[in-house]
Amino acid sequence: MPNVIIDPNSCKGCGLCVSVCPKKIIKMSEDKINKKGMHYAVMTDSQKCIGCTFCALMCPDCVITITKDDEESDGHV
Ligand code: SF4
Ligand code: SF4
Repeated sequence: MPNVIIDPNSCKGCGLCVSVCPKKIIKMSEDKINKKGMHYAVMTDSQKCIGCTFCALMCPDCVITITKDDEESDGHV
């Protein structure tokens, strides 16, 4: 199963990953902010993730890391 890791304090809150996810399982934090003072991206339902890596590829700051099963991949290969 894909494992999506989003570093909250590196996120600048652009929302691109939210718009690109085909499963609509990434949302922006509503009441929490990170060290940058921004609302940040959070995974809402990792069970539905299909590992397409669109979110990681879209993120301008490489905040999202995706690993698939035992295979390490950051989506930026
Ligand atoms: S890998 Fe694909 S399905 Fe999974 S969170 Fe990212 S965009 Fe959504
Ligand atoms: S694309 Fe990257 S910087 Fe933009 S909201 Fe998503 S995780 Fe944050």
